[in-house]
Amino acid sequence: MTNSRSTSPPSTDTEVDDIHVTVDLTTETIPFVDMDAVHEPYRDQIREAVDAVLGRGDFILGPGVDRFETEFAAYVGVSHAIGVDSGFSALELLLRAHGVGRGDEVVTVANTFYATAMAIRATGATPVLVDSDPSTHLLNPEAVAGAMSGRTRAIIPVHLYGRRAPMTEISRLAARYDVAVIEDACQAHGAGDRPRRAGALGNGGAFSFYPSKNLGALGDGGMVTVDDEVLARRVRMLRNLGSAERYRHEEPGFNRRLDTIHAVALSVKLAHLDRDNDQRRSIARTYNELLAGLPVATPEVTDDHVFHLYVIETDRRDDLAEHLRSEGIASGIHYPTPIHLQPAFTDLGWRQGQFPRAERSAGRILSLPMYPRMRQRDTERVAHAVRRFFS
Ligand SMILES: *Cc1c(COP(=O)(O)O)cnc(C)c1O
Repeated sequence: MTNSRSTSPPSTDTEVDDIHVTVDLTTETIPFVDMDAVHEPYRDQIREAVDAVLGRGDFILGPGVDRFETEFAAYVGVSHAIGVDSGFSALELLLRAHGVGRGDEVVTVANTFYATAMAIRATGATPVLVDSDPSTHLLNPEAVAGAMSGRTRAIIPVHLYGRRAPMTEISRLAARYDVAVIEDACQAHGAGDRPRRAGALGNGGAFSFYPSKNLGALGDGGMVTVDDEVLARRVRMLRNLGSAERYRHEEPGFNRRLDTIHAVALSVKLAHLDRDNDQRRSIARTYNELLAGLPVATPEVTDDHVFHLYVIETDRRDDLAEHLRSEGIASGIHYPTPIHLQPAFTDLGWRQGQFPRAERSAGRILSLPMYPRMRQRDTERVAHAVRRFFS
């Protein structure tokens, strides 16, 4: 594992320049995420690792998955990690392992990715939403206190954009009501300090290895992290048709295993995750410096934030996004419609205006390009394009 803490900008500029055909600077587009640049330092190692799986033919579970689970558990700071097929499955199986199901309520935040709420529904439980804190975009502990009921079984804080949620307050509340805290760490691989990082701060963590996440597979993948032997065994069975031992099925389960080719690729990438996260923070610092003084809110840079996304806020979001597009710069909105206004949840009776902070943020947020090995000059070009818009 690398513990290089580079504070300088990405140092691979020249290598990347050799690979990308450099065209006229003013017309070259800047993508939202450049997966080619992300994989550039370890493409060969990934090929070798995948090739070894092809040679062995152990495509399902086996030593490649065991090894990555052990490495990931040590990295996060828990005793058990269980590889699954997506972040969605990680959330669902973790909730089920905690006994959450029909008739139960699970409290989470209105401005998260849809999978958080969908995973709660998949267990048969009902998602109960709270409004976000507009300054951090994270769930607000006071609002969570107001949402607790006799049916609440769990709280899911989301470390949105890579920033750690207020775990101390949430854990205190959960202890008072005797409910589980399930961290949605799908955007927060590596957030916080050793020995316990995001995913080790509650009663279970759920990670996604969707390719563009801070730690991404070659397709879908996910991980459950827990510090409890009994929960770990349950998640292991649930992901594998309710079976811990071949041809013996102890309970109804699912097929939600992490594929071995993903596990071996993820092992390669995990060794570089701290360095990649340092680069993300370095890019965020550059953006913050270059955007200072503009009428935009910029995020604070701390070790608790791994910048899965770099999100600014402005009253003129749509015009700014259009201006960036006209200069060949991609941007994104995460997310344009809060959970409570999604058609998939109309049966839950949520209304427009019910979570005003999440709704207001949804109209103001804009994510700028952010990925490891983004070139310094591209970061500068994005920031200067934002400055030009406001001048
Ligand atoms: C990506 C993500 C998920 C779901 O992960 P998948 O692997 O796509 O199923 C859940 N929650 C959040 C906050 C995410 O960003």
